[in-house]
Amino acid sequence: NDTTGKLANDGLPPLREVIATHGLSAQKKFGQNFLFDLNLTGRIARAAAPLEDATVIEIGPGPGGLTRALLFHGAKNLTVIERDPRCQPVLEQISNHYPGALHVIDGDALDVDVTKLGPAPRKIVANLPYNVGTQLLLGWLMQIDQFASLTLMFQKEVAERVVAGPKSKAYGRLSVLCQYLCDCDILFDVHRSAFTPPPKVTSAVVQLRPKADRGADINLASLAKITQAAFGQRRKMLRASLKTLNINVGELLDKAGITETARAEELSVADFVRLTQVHDEMAAS
Ligand code: SAM
Repeated sequence: NDTTGKLANDGLPPLREVIATHGLSAQKKFGQNFLFDLNLTGRIARAAAPLEDATVIEIGPGPGGLTRALLFHGAKNLTVIERDPRCQPVLEQISNHYPGALHVIDGDALDVDVTKLGPAPRKIVANLPYNVGTQLLLGWLMQIDQFASLTLMFQKEVAERVVAGPKSKAYGRLSVLCQYLCDCDILFDVHRSAFTPPPKVTSAVVQLRPKADRGADINLASLAKITQAAFGQRRKMLRASLKTLNINVGELLDKAGITETARAEELSVADFVRLTQVHDEMAAS
């Protein structure tokens, strides 16, 4: 509702008017589900606070609802990356309204090295396009030390995979990678009716904050490879699913203290960390 909340006073036209003026009908091929609810965009921006001294990066600003909330809530160095060229004039208008604070990149977020966009602390905030959300998150995880926090809107099903524990249906590769590297929380759910057009499922905002101390410092590429093998065939016992690793699986599991008949979903994050350590020791010897 554009007429409520403090953000109605940011001096820019209401979002629905912006959409109408610029003919920004949401397009499926760009994964576009826009947020008009200022309470909601404000809540997401505040969850990523403080924004003043950070390099803030937003993926897929679209018509700029969340962008405006981030600027309103103090972002002084915000870079947005948007693939749909129709949004550029609107984003330029916002940029003119906040001189020097908003930088717009016209392009595909998958092609941008976001660590080059400004100094640490870097915070990513986004209502992600669903078709590339997980892929983007995996890319950021591989260089997570570059970021102070990721505050991301996903389909609830993906958010649940991020925070899931062992022996649950949602527990998988994404859970292990996220939880080894970060403290992960679902902050709140967002009903589908908050979006225009409404997506088929409920969404949720997740926050990931890199752990100061991960315990063991393991090779991330190895952890990614091992979790891929283990969960790639999640119904199989590990002695079968890990065969693709080209290593003596019996010895690997024995040295890591894991029974051969266990399945991937029964292993804790710590188990996967130990498995990775032993794997790399064996591969190096
Ligand atoms: N942030 C806006 C909001 O909350 O109302 C729009 C969110 S919409 C779910 C996702 C946005 O990401 C769309 O504007 C879409 O055009 C953009 N997008 C889709 N794929 C992208 C990509 N690969 N790189 C950058 N932007 C992308």
